[in-house]
Amino acid sequence: MCRYAPEVNTENKEIMEMYERGMHFLGDWHTHYQKIPTPSRQDIVATQRCYHGAITELPGFLMIVVGKNFPEIPCSLSYLTESVIEHFKYRQFDGAGTD
Ligand SMILES: [Zn+2]
Repeated sequence: MCRYAPEVNTENKEIMEMYERGMHFLGDWHTHYQKIPTPSRQDIVATQRCYHGAITELPGFLMIVVGKNFPEIPCSLSYLTESVIEHFKYRQFDGAGTD
């Protein structure tokens, strides 16, 4: 079960304070006790609500979820706006060059 439950109004206040100091909020991260980390519905809704209420020039926020087998199994990465949910698939990096 995911315990990630940000207080959206507080988070957006912090985002605005940092923005006024020239810093842009890119997104959030948290952990799941899962072998393969997967964002919960609550994670997605909370991030979308945060983006909806934030003052930002960015087109969306990123969300990273780190699982219990990190770094053997990489974290999940999602891109979210009010209407877009994009989950990026990971692949194992074998350390070899791509040239
Ligand atoms: Zn979560």
